[in-house]
Amino acid sequence: MESTGKDRFIGISRHRLEVDGEGVTTLAAFYGCPLHCAYCLNPHSWREGTKTRDLTPEELYDMVKIDQLYFLATGGGICFGGGEPLLRPAYLARFRELCGTSWRLWVETSLNVSWEAVEKAAACIDYFIVDCKDTNPDIYLRYTGCDNAQMLQNLRRLVALIGAERVIVRLPSIPTYNTEADIDASEALLRSFGITRFDRFVYKTKIDK
Ligand code: SF4
Repeated sequence: MESTGKDRFIGISRHRLEVDGEGVTTLAAFYGCPLHCAYCLNPHSWREGTKTRDLTPEELYDMVKIDQLYFLATGGGICFGGGEPLLRPAYLARFRELCGTSWRLWVETSLNVSWEAVEKAAACIDYFIVDCKDTNPDIYLRYTGCDNAQMLQNLRRLVALIGAERVIVRLPSIPTYNTEADIDASEALLRSFGITRFDRFVYKTKIDK
C-alpha cells in the first residue's frame, strides 16, 4: 500500500503504562470527531483553531519506533485515539504495514462511524476500546448530540467479526446524564451481544470540583 498522505494529530504521548492498552504504549491522538460530548476531555480534538501536527504514516512510524524495545518487552505498542481514529482506516492499515505484526495496536473509539471503516480497522487493529457512553438513545443524544443506533449496530457486528476478547467497552457514569440503573441496563444489553469486557468508571467533570 502506498502512503495515505498526511493526517492531523493533536498530540503524541509516549511511555504510557497500562492506561490505554497493555504494557508500554504511545498514544497518537488524531484531530476530528463526529461527536460533541458535553464533558469531552479533549475538546481541542474537534474545535476549530486547534494547533495540529500533520504526519504521514511513515513520519509517525519513524517518530514512535524509538520505543520499539519497550513495546516488544512489555507487549505494548500504539494506541490511536483522538478525536476519532476510525475516521482514518486507510491510515491505520498503512501504519500496520510499516510496524509489522510484533507491535500491538489499539484504538480508543466511539464506534459511531461507518461500518466500512470499522471493518477495515478490524483487519489491522488488535484491540478496540469502545467508549459507548450509554446505550439509551435519549441519554446518548443529550450527551453527545448524536444518535447511537449506528454505534450499537457496529458494536454487535464487531464482536461477531473479531470475537469478544478483542473488544473492551467503557461504560461511564456521566453526572447528571445517567444513573447506575442506566449503566446496568447498558451492560445487560451489551452482554446480550456477547461482550464480556467492561470498564465502568465515573467521569470527572467541572461540577465535581
Ligand atoms: S467521542 Fe471522545 S473526543 Fe469525541 S467529543 Fe466525545 S469525548 Fe470528545
